[in-house]
Amino acid sequence: KLLEVNNYSVASTDDIAILKNLNLTINKGETHVLMGPNGAGKSTFGSSLLANPAYKTTHGHILFEDEDITALATDKRAKKGIFLSFQNPVEIPGISLYSFLRSAVKNSAVPLTNKQFREKLNSILTILDLKKEYLERDLNVGFSGGERKKVEMLQLLMLSPQLAILDETDSGLDVDAVNIMLKGINEFQQDKEKGMLIISHNMHILNKLNIDKVHILVKGNIIAEGGSELINEINEHGFSRFEIQVGDKN
Ligand code: ADP
Ligand code: MG
Ligand code: MG
Repeated sequence: KLLEVNNYSVASTDDIAILKNLNLTINKGETHVLMGPNGAGKSTFGSSLLANPAYKTTHGHILFEDEDITALATDKRAKKGIFLSFQNPVEIPGISLYSFLRSAVKNSAVPLTNKQFREKLNSILTILDLKKEYLERDLNVGFSGGERKKVEMLQLLMLSPQLAILDETDSGLDVDAVNIMLKGINEFQQDKEKGMLIISHNMHILNKLNIDKVHILVKGNIIAEGGSELINEINEHGFSRFEIQVGDKN
């Protein structure tokens, strides 16, 4: 088991219940998808897995590689290999993409020597069809949507976390950027020791990925689970069936 979430409830710091008694297990080598209507709590779940201080655990536990991490702060969880992508990547003028990546990898669970770092970087640049010149540019400053996506995938593959959580990083992408994202995800999936949680409704992405399990979150409850057939059902019928099911019980 890579990630195990047990009877897990989360509230905002001002005590508004958001996630209710969630149970979810991601095994090594698995890719899971989390879907749900706007406001269901998907982003809250993703950021709670990294202990975002805007939220507090009100019940239950998170186990990561069989260790209880419920009480661990964000940096400790990140160091254990949990990665959360950002919906809106920050621009950092004055720091080149290269130095950003080098220091991020140095501070990761697997720091790499300079030589290992360069070799890995070169191979990933090739996979993502990224020019070396990008590395000299300031982090994300003036990058197009597609370039940001490439950089995000580059960051994911260089950091090589044990668990990658991608929170709707595919909204508003053009075809080229979607293909880059697919390449990055496919590459990440090669390592059967790792796992992924993808929050997405993008059919271009979801239809082309190997997906082990789909979880439907409605009003903070996981209301349905299944295989990739659930994705097509939601694409056709939306979430109404599930919303009726959860009703006003919360
Ligand atoms: P999703 O990602 O599924 O669209 P979110 O996780 O962003 O949903 O939000 C779930 C619900 O929790 C929403 O009703 C949102 O307004 C509320 N919420 C999220 N963050 C906070 C917060 N820090 N304080 C209070 N309410 C919040
Ligand atoms: Mg939302
Ligand atoms: Mg969200």
